[in-house]
Amino acid sequence: MSTPFSYPSDREEQSAAQVRALEALLIEKGVITHTTVDKVLGYFESEMTPLNGQKIVARAWVDPDFAALLATDAPAAVAQLDLPDGMAGAEGEHLAAVLNEPGVHNLVICTLCSCFPWPVLGLPPYWYKDPVFRARAAREPRAVLTELGVPLDDDTEVRVWDSSGHSRWFVVPERPAGTEGWTEDQLAALVTTESMIGVALADVPAPV
Ligand code: FE
Repeated sequence: MSTPFSYPSDREEQSAAQVRALEALLIEKGVITHTTVDKVLGYFESEMTPLNGQKIVARAWVDPDFAALLATDAPAAVAQLDLPDGMAGAEGEHLAAVLNEPGVHNLVICTLCSCFPWPVLGLPPYWYKDPVFRARAAREPRAVLTELGVPLDDDTEVRVWDSSGHSRWFVVPERPAGTEGWTEDQLAALVTTESMIGVALADVPAPV
């Protein structure tokens, strides 16, 4: 039996070879320079990272007004925080947030390709682009979430959001119990990238 998200063992090498060929062609044609790709990757690995999403979620947990604005106008809410320039720029257009609540669990996928709110969550994880994950998460989200270990009550509604160039969704997970009085920095440390995609819950506090 194959694993849920299996793919050819040489897939990463194949992808890398395709990227190298494409990059070489673009340099040869004068479209980009030798440093362009490294600069873009560096930007999305150092400034546009899940740390931004963690801060957004932590603020939503402590500030109901911010959470309400985030749900209705995510770019306006994000603009209120002290985050790096460019949150609304490349791959951050049309940000939209969906908030988990008791009885409602949200899951974000891109059925078409890999649309993702890069400024909020960083570069999309490898599995997010996996055709098997994308297809199964659309068809049988409950089964996929159960396999991934997300606890779902039978009466919890699962809402699947299909990201695109017109809406880049991210999830605000529920605030874990036992975090009353925590600072935003403490809370942010519980917010994983997976929880902001909806394939996990926020971490629970370690016992003291
Ligand atoms: Fe896409």
